[in-house]
Amino acid sequence: MFTGKISAKISDKSPETRSIQPFAFTRTKIPTRQAIALISEHGDPAAEIGKDAAGGQNVYVRQVGESLAKLGWQVDMFTRKSSPNDATIVQHSDYCRTIRLIAGPETYIPRDELFQYMPEFVASFQQFQQQEGITYPLAHTNYWMSGWVGLELQRLQNIQLVHTYHSLGAVKYQSVSEIPPIAQTRLAVEQRLLERSHSTVATSPQEEADLKTLVSRSGRISVIPCGTNVSTFRPISKTEARKQLGLSAKAKIVLYVGRFDKRKGIETLVRATSELRAQLEQGAEIDTRHLKLLVVGGSDPNEADGAERRRIEDLVTELDLTANTEFVGMIGHDRLALYYTAADVCVVPSHYEPFGLVAIEAMACATPVVASDVGGLKFTVISEETGLLVPPHDVAKFAYAIERILTDEIWARKLCKQASARVKQKFSWTGVAIQLSDLYRHLLVRSFSNSGIAIGSSPASILPQQHVIVAS
Ligand code: UDP
Repeated sequence: MFTGKISAKISDKSPETRSIQPFAFTRTKIPTRQAIALISEHGDPAAEIGKDAAGGQNVYVRQVGESLAKLGWQVDMFTRKSSPNDATIVQHSDYCRTIRLIAGPETYIPRDELFQYMPEFVASFQQFQQQEGITYPLAHTNYWMSGWVGLELQRLQNIQLVHTYHSLGAVKYQSVSEIPPIAQTRLAVEQRLLERSHSTVATSPQEEADLKTLVSRSGRISVIPCGTNVSTFRPISKTEARKQLGLSAKAKIVLYVGRFDKRKGIETLVRATSELRAQLEQGAEIDTRHLKLLVVGGSDPNEADGAERRRIEDLVTELDLTANTEFVGMIGHDRLALYYTAADVCVVPSHYEPFGLVAIEAMACATPVVASDVGGLKFTVISEETGLLVPPHDVAKFAYAIERILTDEIWARKLCKQASARVKQKFSWTGVAIQLSDLYRHLLVRSFSNSGIAIGSSPASILPQQHVIVAS
């Protein structure tokens, strides 16, 4: 729970005393649409996905930003500049851009060491507003450090604050062996965010329950899920996908997609594959030479994910699974649908998963999912209908669940159909963006009418039109 002043803890230099580099761009024209800020300090929406720390948050912010721009907003997505080679501004479409702010050295900084640079992030943000002649009336922040930035902005200017956690310290620290020194600060900021933001977006009912029971009883929560691009991830022919990837039509393919991170539970999947092979060797249904585990995801040999990848590779060797396993490396969204489609089952064995985009991407491609019965996965995967849910860490149950899908083709086909139908109905980015758009609109209209004047440079009349009614 929150105690004391957060700003005093994080830096010996106040934002005012830091020297801020000027932005190397010219002022753009005043937007004719309502401008809003999405803030994602470490999840750069313009970054390559699947490598280093780039994962679900990057995808979420980018897809939400681009979809909101299509709905009529001017969307400016702010992140920290982590390399001098990265452009300061990346224009995604006419009304959607990523702006990389200076906050600490322009190099990769692990998340647990990033908080000290957040006052500089706030100062850079304000400098940007000043140079562009914009005062954002609403910021949607992502992850607790951006949330802290949002709380500061709330203090400094009249801003509506919407927050998405992406990961909750109170839940995450229950499943890790080493609690980092930043934990107390993070928990305090997460509580403050829930109590003070104008709206908290929980991406699943489980997250809403966790917020209420583990973080604070006071807070305004809307449940709006993450989404997926249903034109990129859609059912295509399995035969064609395998042909394009050079994979045998006879193979029984078990797929993992994601980062190399202990919390992702790849070890459970590797052990389950070994157990499954042993079971299959006793029967005649599947020739175990056709059993294939594809591990998709990138890693940097010098970072923590590189160490986790080596650990997993060693385990594969130790279990004599080398002939059955392929480490594919990082694959962009342009080709990822081929892997989901080529697979017979996609496994998400996470110990903790706030939402888990991979599960809905696989389901959108009509591939059933075996997932840990945790977090957002409990909400996206319907056990026995779109895949199977299994207790986390449980190697034997994972092996059995995968086997059931691989050996019962008729039932598996039914799961495939139901999986893609569920995603289309519930988890398209457009649908998600419409819900967020209505939430923003509702907050802004209320704030404009409370203040009696138009906030910032834009009157309420230029807000994008309402799409569906939001309950207040
Ligand atoms: N991803 C990707 N290429 C890869 C590995 C992962 O594009 O090689 C993407 C994946 O498609 C998904 C995201 O990274 O959109 C991972 O999101 P998820 O919510 O599953 O996990 P997180 O990384 O947020 O823990």
